[in-house]
Amino acid sequence: MQQIITAKLKLVTTPEQFVALRQTQLAYRDALNAVSHYAFEQGKTSNVTRLHKGMYAQLRTRYHLPSQLACSVERQVAATYKGLWTRLLKNIKHRRAKITKKRFKGLDQPPHYSSPTVQYTFERDYTFQRNQRVSVGTLNGRISLPYQGYHKHTVLIQHHARIGDAKLWYDKPKKTFYLLVSLAVEVAEPTPAHLQEVVGVDVGIRYLAVTSTSTGKATFHPGKRVRQRANHYARLRKRLQQKGTRGAKRCLQRIAQRERRLKMQANHSIANQIIKQHPHAMFGLEHLTDIRERAKRRKRKRKKNGNGYERISAKARKANRVYSQWSFAELQALITYKAMLAGSLAIKVDADYTSKTCPMCGYTAGENRPHKGLLFACQQCHYKLHADLVGARNLTLRTLLVRHDWTRTGCLSITPDTSDKEAKAARLSRYAELRWSPDASLRLEADGY
Ligand SMILES: [Zn+2]
Repeated sequence: MQQIITAKLKLVTTPEQFVALRQTQLAYRDALNAVSHYAFEQGKTSNVTRLHKGMYAQLRTRYHLPSQLACSVERQVAATYKGLWTRLLKNIKHRRAKITKKRFKGLDQPPHYSSPTVQYTFERDYTFQRNQRVSVGTLNGRISLPYQGYHKHTVLIQHHARIGDAKLWYDKPKKTFYLLVSLAVEVAEPTPAHLQEVVGVDVGIRYLAVTSTSTGKATFHPGKRVRQRANHYARLRKRLQQKGTRGAKRCLQRIAQRERRLKMQANHSIANQIIKQHPHAMFGLEHLTDIRERAKRRKRKRKKNGNGYERISAKARKANRVYSQWSFAELQALITYKAMLAGSLAIKVDADYTSKTCPMCGYTAGENRPHKGLLFACQQCHYKLHADLVGARNLTLRTLLVRHDWTRTGCLSITPDTSDKEAKAARLSRYAELRWSPDASLRLEADGY
């Protein structure tokens, strides 16, 4: 089985090479925007041949792109439009079905490419050479550069990995160019017998992640300090946005980057910890819906007093505090990816009622979470547990069920198909039969699933 990974290679440049790369990046970006405008005028087309006919000459003469890079620009814009069309059509379908009211606006204007990058195709505009050097295309022909990277990655490049496309990326604060190379790596196909442990991973606001194994071992990943720092950045951003001066905008960009990096690093480190703690495991992640991922905050209407001033109570002020949004989808994607490389497997299971269902007796009700607090207290059997751990355990149970089916049928059903209501209802009724016991795996077998 193949898995695509990205190797980040640092490019060692002379001042002349630095300028050459920078010029290529900027020309490539301007070319993307020019083609994007053209595609928009041509009825928002995603047809690469049409873009080629209309724009190729200009890309060569006006932007001085070598022919391969000119073709890459056309392909990239076509792919962007194709993606946007898919989203637009999905949105129309969802609006008809009354799933959403929001209109998709991604195709109202030509999509704009703001960050300078270059998309290189392997063996056409970049190749690896001996002595750890790489040759990449620029506006004035190829240049050869030494590169540095993780030992693991460089070995893969020099030996057995299948090499794919690469992206030239510029790290502004470090004033350094990187080449992000995608590599196809051979990994072992997982089997249920090979995955000895089952681990449910619940993601959420209070704890970024809580895990539980089928034997009841739990870990909590609070991320409180990172969240505080992220919230600090979010507040700072809000203030700068209100200011709106040019200096503020520049500052805003820097802070947004810093915030992004902070969250990314936190997600990486949590994913690493979870994967390392559980070798050869089958991880159960919850299927996040768009709504949960966004975790909307309701805006409250404020009452005005007689003087026209707003009276904001301490409670309202607290509710209006600026919070940073966390990307749980990214955290899950990292866990999935790292699990695969470590010989484990992560799957998605339905998230419905995982926080409201008692893992001991199966009683499901909102009242099981008094005041939506930290404590889960079953109203039927009076079982009490940390609320986030309940979520993780329910996910563990559902993952056990998936693994059990996998062992029995030899076929793994990975993604819950959200569009199929009947299949989902059938799954939910099976979940309702699940009960937690210190060794849930045995219990599951005994119950005859
Ligand atoms: Zn109960």
